[in-house]
Amino acid sequence: MTESTSQVRSNPAAKGAARGVASAVPAALVARLAKGVTASGGATAETIAPLTGEPLATLPLSSEEDVQRAFDQARRAQPAWAALPVRHRAGVLLRFHDLLLKRQDEVLDLIQAETGKARLHAFEEVMAVASAARHYGRAARSYLRDRRRGGAVPGLTSAVEARRPKGVVGQISPWNYPLELSVGDALPALVAGNAVVNKPDTQTALTALWARELFVEAGLPPQAWQIVLGDGPVVGPQIVERADYVAFTGSTRTGRDVARRAAERLVGASLELGGKNAMLVLADADLDRAAAGAVRACFSSAGQLCISVERLYVHRSVADDFLARFAEKTAALRLGGGLAYGADMGSLVSARQLETVTRHVEQAVKAGATVLAGGRARPDLGPLFHEPTILDGVTPEMAVCAEETFGPVVSVYRFDTEDEAVAAANDTPYGLNSSVWTKDTARGRKVAARLRTGTVNVNEAYAAAYGSVASPMGGMGDSGLGRRHGAEGILRYTEAQTIAVQRLLPIGPSMGLDDRKFAELFTTGLKAMKAFRLK
Ligand code: NAD
Repeated sequence: MTESTSQVRSNPAAKGAARGVASAVPAALVARLAKGVTASGGATAETIAPLTGEPLATLPLSSEEDVQRAFDQARRAQPAWAALPVRHRAGVLLRFHDLLLKRQDEVLDLIQAETGKARLHAFEEVMAVASAARHYGRAARSYLRDRRRGGAVPGLTSAVEARRPKGVVGQISPWNYPLELSVGDALPALVAGNAVVNKPDTQTALTALWARELFVEAGLPPQAWQIVLGDGPVVGPQIVERADYVAFTGSTRTGRDVARRAAERLVGASLELGGKNAMLVLADADLDRAAAGAVRACFSSAGQLCISVERLYVHRSVADDFLARFAEKTAALRLGGGLAYGADMGSLVSARQLETVTRHVEQAVKAGATVLAGGRARPDLGPLFHEPTILDGVTPEMAVCAEETFGPVVSVYRFDTEDEAVAAANDTPYGLNSSVWTKDTARGRKVAARLRTGTVNVNEAYAAAYGSVASPMGGMGDSGLGRRHGAEGILRYTEAQTIAVQRLLPIGPSMGLDDRKFAELFTTGLKAMKAFRLK
């Protein structure tokens, strides 16, 4: 393991310091993990370590026949898995939780090597997955138990609502949080009795493969979780064509395509999509806390986080003071490429990401925006580093204003009234996450209720809401459909089934009653049920 860090402005001399990232992922480990891919045709893809540009892994790719085989195997394994008591399946999640915490260093290395993010940000994934495993491990029995419901005719009808697994869940995940977004969504699907066919992004497949191995060690039948790899526009639709339910995380553009295909087949889909998240700093905010919070909000995982903040609204009366603190903290961030704790921000994942970030910043600056911190790519640190960047004076015609950058770039805007700030924050087709800073938490809650986002954090960036795994998390508007976490996060993977039993008398004319008499009797019964609050 190597460690290197660099001040954004003052210490550019880290060239080559991240050497050896790929050597932390030995060929024998790659070969072992690659066996977990359902693939047979001999086609492969090579991934690179973003921190250094070194080759990282050669991985097998799945043909359509392989995808079919993965579904066949999952479908064969699913009934026996579903037949186990929930308690047994929950036990697998709880054992996985313990193994993950014990062996976290292995996966932290993999996440860093595959994504280029700082170790602290890789650890966020371990926190998130362990929390979800604990939650669903403990609460699945309660979420999934049969529930007695009032029957059609009191005393004569009894009804029970049951939850049945969907069958085989197709799960498509992006590269930015490879542990959380492949495992986090698989946990509730599996504990609900489903099998899973997962297509992680090839760039971050080792992390997903490692997690699956750990799950098998914790007691999951290996066939119940299949991993296929391949080009998204080819393999993605092959999954949607075969799945009983689709859990997709990725861009809004791809999400629409997945939704169209799922709708055609009449299978359900949850879509966790993009965002252009806003943070509001009210006049009474604790400015130091808010500035530190803004750093986490904007630059965690180099801003390659769906819930990170790209629009920052600050009350005019505190704007200069706040921005001075925020810019100072941002400029002091240590960029680094080592597989150890110490760096505050790592690299971007790909040339495509770097190109978008550079384009958004350069275009804004050319059109008149001012750089308050950062602003440049940092090839001296590694091929894909970019400084955490704060832009002021951003106007609507600049791409960075409304488009998701998905990088370490935030635009700041000033406001005079709360109404103005709420209207500006809501002026986007997205609705994923937002953050409000104030010393008055009652006021924070009131402002939060006016924001059209699936999660709102008061006096935190995103981790308060995301980490509250018993509560739902997801997007409104173009940010998606459905929710992960909480009841929604597990019930989406189930079909509700009502089993009603009728006793003694049928619900229809009987015992010599003609139709009119039956209708009169039932009318009296309906009135009585309302009057006596029986229904
Ligand atoms: P992407 O949509 O390009 O790819 C996501 C996944 O879909 C990948 O595995 C990809 O191979 C696959 N894919 C590509 N084309 C497909 C198709 N036609 N059909 C089915 N699958 C296809 O997104 P990305 O660039 O990899 O990820 C970044 C995006 O994901 C950002 O917009 C980000 O906001 C979003 N995201 C959202 C959340 C959330 O929870 N809301 C979390 C993380 C990332």
